[in-house]
Amino acid sequence: MPAKLVKRLLIASPRGFCAGVERAIAVVDRLLDQAVSPLYVRKEIVHNLAVVEDFRRRGVVFVDDLDEIPDGATVVFSAHGISPDVRREAERRSLRTIDATCPLVTRVHDAVIRYSAADLQVVLIGHPGHDEVLGTMGEAPDSITLITDKDDVDRLEFPPHTRVAYVTQTTLSVDETLDIVQALRNRFPELVVPPRSDICFATQNRQDAVKALVELGIEHLLVVGSANSSNSMRLCEVAQKLSVPASLVDGPDDVQLSRLADHSCIGLTAGASAPEHLVAAVVQKLRDADWQSEQILTLEEEVRFSLPKELRDDRELRDTVE
Ligand code: SF4
Repeated sequence: MPAKLVKRLLIASPRGFCAGVERAIAVVDRLLDQAVSPLYVRKEIVHNLAVVEDFRRRGVVFVDDLDEIPDGATVVFSAHGISPDVRREAERRSLRTIDATCPLVTRVHDAVIRYSAADLQVVLIGHPGHDEVLGTMGEAPDSITLITDKDDVDRLEFPPHTRVAYVTQTTLSVDETLDIVQALRNRFPELVVPPRSDICFATQNRQDAVKALVELGIEHLLVVGSANSSNSMRLCEVAQKLSVPASLVDGPDDVQLSRLADHSCIGLTAGASAPEHLVAAVVQKLRDADWQSEQILTLEEEVRFSLPKELRDDRELRDTVE
């Protein structure tokens, strides 16, 4: 009898929920525990189908615009952040607002405000139309320009001697923006660079974990995440750029075992908004098909963000640090 082929499933760690997503979900959970009803969330709280559907089942109403919400109601702002216009509109409408914006996104907003107040032109590296990009641009619409690749740098039309700073959408890693930043430095030698603390550790860590799987010889990467999740798409791209095909799956139903049949070693990770129970379900499906799983730990992530003040109980208020 021919020897049975060992099929290895390497599971990246860290993967899945980051501290910002955990915090945003905890915000909505806590408001549901407090029986706030109806509870509105502006935009998807995080970009994951399963998370949004679960909250919908529990009574949360997701809206795209504040005009879909009655005056005085409670609304949560999603992890991706909002522009000041939205905040002002909420105040005007006397909405009770709970801001679940990730603190790292808030840092990018703060940097834009600082640079703009200092008369710098701000270049935002990001993807047009993403909720986070819309919120960040709203902080200084007259002094911010969005670019997506290094060719855009040549197209920037700033008057001579313009002082320029840059910020990035948090779901792009340092590696991804290297060539764009270099092009900016070449064109604007005095370029003002954001502090390292503004970098999203979770994006970088998840991408580094994928690179580790590629080095171990995976022939295909499965990424648990939704199609509108920017960081999940980026994880696919990290593998693809290293010549490893990748596919995005929302859950086990999307995993096509027949397409993996020719492989002996595949990788699995999850975007920052993808819940672990979906990863577990995908792993189970693969185990049932004789894939032998092992975790590949590249780093222990210990970052936690505290809840917004208005939702912390007395003990949390004493114990947590901003
Ligand atoms: Fe915050 Fe980074 Fe998570 Fe985005 S990916 S929510 S910036 S920790």
